Amino acid sequence: MRAMRSKLLAFAAVAALSSATLFSQSQTIRIHAATILDGTGKVLRNSTIVIEGSKIARIESGNAGTATYDLAQLTVVPGLIDVHSHVGWHFDKAGRYAARRGDPSEEILYSAENAYVTLMAGFTTIQSPGQANDVQLRDAIARGALPGPRILTSIRQINENSGTPDELREKVRQLKKDGADVVKIFASASIRDGGKQTMTDAQLQAVCGEANAQGMRTMVHAHSPESIKASVNAGCLQIEHGVFANDEVLKLMADKGVYFDPNVGVVLQNYLRNRDRYEGIGNYNAEGFAYMEKGLGLNKEMMKKAVATPKLLIVNGTDAVAGAHGHNADEIVERVREGMKPMDAIVSATSLSAKSMRLDKTIGTLAPGFEADIVALDGDPITDITAVTRVKFVMKGGKVYKNERNVTTNTSR
Ligand SMILES: [Zn+2]
Repeated sequence: MRAMRSKLLAFAAVAALSSATLFSQSQTIRIHAATILDGTGKVLRNSTIVIEGSKIARIESGNAGTATYDLAQLTVVPGLIDVHSHVGWHFDKAGRYAARRGDPSEEILYSAENAYVTLMAGFTTIQSPGQANDVQLRDAIARGALPGPRILTSIRQINENSGTPDELREKVRQLKKDGADVVKIFASASIRDGGKQTMTDAQLQAVCGEANAQGMRTMVHAHSPESIKASVNAGCLQIEHGVFANDEVLKLMADKGVYFDPNVGVVLQNYLRNRDRYEGIGNYNAEGFAYMEKGLGLNKEMMKKAVATPKLLIVNGTDAVAGAHGHNADEIVERVREGMKPMDAIVSATSLSAKSMRLDKTIGTLAPGFEADIVALDGDPITDITAVTRVKFVMKGGKVYKNERNVTTNTSR
C-alpha cells in the first residue's frame, strides 16, 4: 500500500511537472491597464495586452477580470530606449572613475551591474558607443538568463587618428565582420576641449560612405556647427551631443532626415555631481569642469532650438557614464522642461529611437507582432513627466523582471 502510494505521488509529481512545462511553453500573459501609451502617440484606455511567448499577440479592450497583471493604477508604455549609454563605465573600488580597463572579470561584472540597473529603470534596449567587452555582455543578455537591456554596440570608435580614408574604409569593414551594430565616430573634440572639428571632411566621407555601402549605421560625436555640417554632408546618419548646434545645422539635420541625439539631462549633471570621482583624470580638470558647467546652460538653449526645429528627428540618448546608469530617464524629464511635448518625448524614447536603430518593426511600439517590452510608470507622464523616473513594472521579451505594482508609492530618488 505504502509502495503504491509513493508511486502515485511520484506519478502526480511528474504529471505536475510536465503540465508546468507545457504551461510555460504556451503561456499567455495578460496585462490590463487603464492607460496605455503605445509609443507612436496613441493612447489606449481600459485595454489588455495579450502576450504569447516573447511577443504581443493582440490588444483587447477591457478584460480586467482575466488579467495576469492588473496595472490599472499605472501608465503602461513600451520599454524605454537609450541610444547612447556607456554601459561599461564605472567607478573603481576606491570610488574613482576607472578610466583604464582593469581585471577583465571585474570589468564585465561592473558592466553587468550597470545593465541590470538600467533595465530596472525601464530601459529595455540601449546602444553603447562601444568597448570591446560589450560583445560578451550583449550576447550573454541575449541568451536570456542574465537580466539586462538588449544591447547594440559599436565595439570600438573611430577618430582623427584612426587612419587615411582607405584605412578607415577597411576599419569599417572589419567592424562589420566583428559584429558591430553601429559605427561610432568622433568628428569633434570633447566639450572639455572646446568641441572643435577634429576629423577631416575626407575622413568623415570615407567612414560614413563605407558604412552606408556596407549597410551599417553611423553615430557621430559632434559639438561644433562645422563638425555637424561636415558629418551630415558626408552621409552620416546620426549626430550626438551637438551642444553648439545652431539653427542652420538643426535645420540641415531635419532636411536630411539625420537623427539628432542631444544629451541634455544626464551626462553633464552626473559629471558635476560626481566631480570628485573624475577630477584629476585626463581632461577632467578644472578647465574641463568649467566647460561642463557652461555646457549646462548651452544645452538648455540648444534644446529649446532643437524642439522648435520643424521635422527634426530627436532620439533619446543620455551619454550615461559612470554614476549615471539607472538615472537614464532624467534625460526625458529635462527635455520636457526645455519645451518638448511630453508625448513627443515618449515617442522619441520608444518608437523613434527604435527606428533610428532600424528596429522599428520589433521594439518601441505596443502593437501585435512586436516584442513584449512593457514598462509601467507610477503616474501619467503626459501630465507629470517625472513619472518616467518611477518605474514599477518591467517586462522584456515577455519576461517580467520587475513587479512592484503593489508597493506603496511616494518613492523619492
Ligand atoms: Zn558618449
